[in-house]
Amino acid sequence: MKRRIAIAGGGAAGMMAAVAAARAGAEVTLYERNDRVGKKLLSTGNGKCNFSNMDMSSAFYFSRDMNAVEHILERFDNQAALSFFHGAGMLTKEKRGCLYPAAEQASVVLDVLRLQMQKEGVTVRTDDKVLRLRPREQGIEVVSERGSALYHRVILACGGKAAPKTGSDGNGYALAQSLGHTLVPVVPALVQLKCGEGWLKAVSGVRTEAKIRLYVDGRPAAEERGELQFTDSGISGIVVFQMSRQAAYALLGKKQVEARMDFLPEFEEGAYQKWGRERLADRDGSQSVEAFFTGMLNKKLMLLLIRLAGLKPTEPCGRADEKKLRKVLSLCRDLGVSVTGCHSFENAQACAGGVPLSQVSENLESLKQPGVYFAGEILDADGKCGGYNLQWAWASGYIAGRSAAGKKDT
Ligand SMILES: Cc1cc2nc3c(=O)[nH]c(=O)nc-3n(C[C@H](O)[C@H](O)[C@H](O)COP(=O)(O)OP(=O)(O)OC[C@H]3O[C@@H](n4cnc5c(N)ncnc54)[C@H](O)[C@@H]3O)c2cc1C
Repeated sequence: MKRRIAIAGGGAAGMMAAVAAARAGAEVTLYERNDRVGKKLLSTGNGKCNFSNMDMSSAFYFSRDMNAVEHILERFDNQAALSFFHGAGMLTKEKRGCLYPAAEQASVVLDVLRLQMQKEGVTVRTDDKVLRLRPREQGIEVVSERGSALYHRVILACGGKAAPKTGSDGNGYALAQSLGHTLVPVVPALVQLKCGEGWLKAVSGVRTEAKIRLYVDGRPAAEERGELQFTDSGISGIVVFQMSRQAAYALLGKKQVEARMDFLPEFEEGAYQKWGRERLADRDGSQSVEAFFTGMLNKKLMLLLIRLAGLKPTEPCGRADEKKLRKVLSLCRDLGVSVTGCHSFENAQACAGGVPLSQVSENLESLKQPGVYFAGEILDADGKCGGYNLQWAWASGYIAGRSAAGKKDT
């Protein structure tokens, strides 16, 4: 008799689990609460779906149990993801390490997964939310909005809480908790940060290259370099997203969080200081302060730094306090903002925390309720921007699917 497997959640992890389990010989039913599968997948990578990365290592991931994350990613790596998609007929392309479908359309990835599910005979039940799991002697009863049925194995792939409009609103955590699991606190990750400074509005919309360091209670917690964007109420851009999970956990723990920005990261400090001293020594006193600093940074940003140093942009350089002029030069290398919050799960691309990997076996089977498996973002593993979260979804989905179907070869 074929093993009957139910999967709760038709996202990236659930669809991969469905294909893997069906290929391993199981009879698979996938439950998706939305009217179609893969809604979130369509919005990934700005609609182009950055589905993995050529530069793959656990350094791009966070979890309370990094050994378990490494073990999963080693067993289904980026090459495995590439062969899965190539084998299904999808052409791919690489841009600075990031992997995309060659068509640069997320819908292509979704189509490929849907066709694979169809080919493998997966039954897809859309508009059918899994409400409860009831362990029975013969298996697990899945109670859903449209009925109940008994399965030998169940895979929970309900996602986390990020972008809840796509269907992943955190209800999967409650299903896990009902089976005796606890949760690593769940916070938004890959999200904008809110900052307390009133001057932000003056530079809202400015994009600039920066090195940004995050400090928690005065201690360095993260560092990134890339394009930073100021918003009305904070800072954004991939550099900020990459460190938002550290900020979110620190704020949850009521710690003080600060971000410090260097807008000229390519300059060696000694050479910059020398250049600054020479510029100041040679300055034309009749030139305005604004004119003196023109050419160094984004104009709006420089005007802000001039004001923050206590100078007026229009005042002549000759009359300006030299200490304040030097202050402007130092603000170009080190401007601090107090991080007061993160944007909500609505705006987050992922979430950190979830079902602890210490509560599942190496094959992602629950240690609390045998027969139940987990895959994807519902687990306590989150990656940086760059295709790492989807790689986790493919890897954990594949392993949970094969294992639930009884294959121990992954
Ligand atoms: C805007 C945006 C852009 C992103 N871009 C990228 C990117 O380019 N690269 C990358 O690697 N990652 C990206 N991510 C992150 C990535 O999309 C997620 O990490 C990944 O999709 C998680 O997959 P999942 O299957 O675990 O969860 P989800 O994709 O959230 O899927 C869970 C599914 O379960 C369904 N569901 C929930 N509860 C139930 C229930 N009780 N019964 C039935 N169904 C249920 C939901 O409707 C949903 O369809 C992005 C995320 C967002 C929001």
